[in-house]
Amino acid sequence: MICPSCDGSKESFGFVDGLKDGKHYGYSGWHRCSTCQGTGEITDEHALQREEGKLLRRFRGHEKHLSQRDAGRCWGIDFVLLSKMEAGRVPIPDELWVKAGREKPLL
Ligand SMILES: [Zn+2]
Repeated sequence: MICPSCDGSKESFGFVDGLKDGKHYGYSGWHRCSTCQGTGEITDEHALQREEGKLLRRFRGHEKHLSQRDAGRCWGIDFVLLSKMEAGRVPIPDELWVKAGREKPLL
């Protein structure tokens, strides 16, 4: 399916930051779309993964009122990994839903 982040344009505008050679950098500009990795399309699995990530984010923030750091601590995972799961970049393992005390959503 067409990438919902860039609408198939393969690029998106936004703030990019990261760590390179031990230094932080950040800039605003056009960059390769991180959702589709610049392909303009995502697979159905990826689309589902993103939906599940959104549900996890909503559950954590709106129902549990936890920050990513706090939720990571409670659920025993690194908050950076949690943030990637919520962004749909990494699949959410079934155990995480168990630890979070919620049924894995059926999508
Ligand atoms: Zn894209």
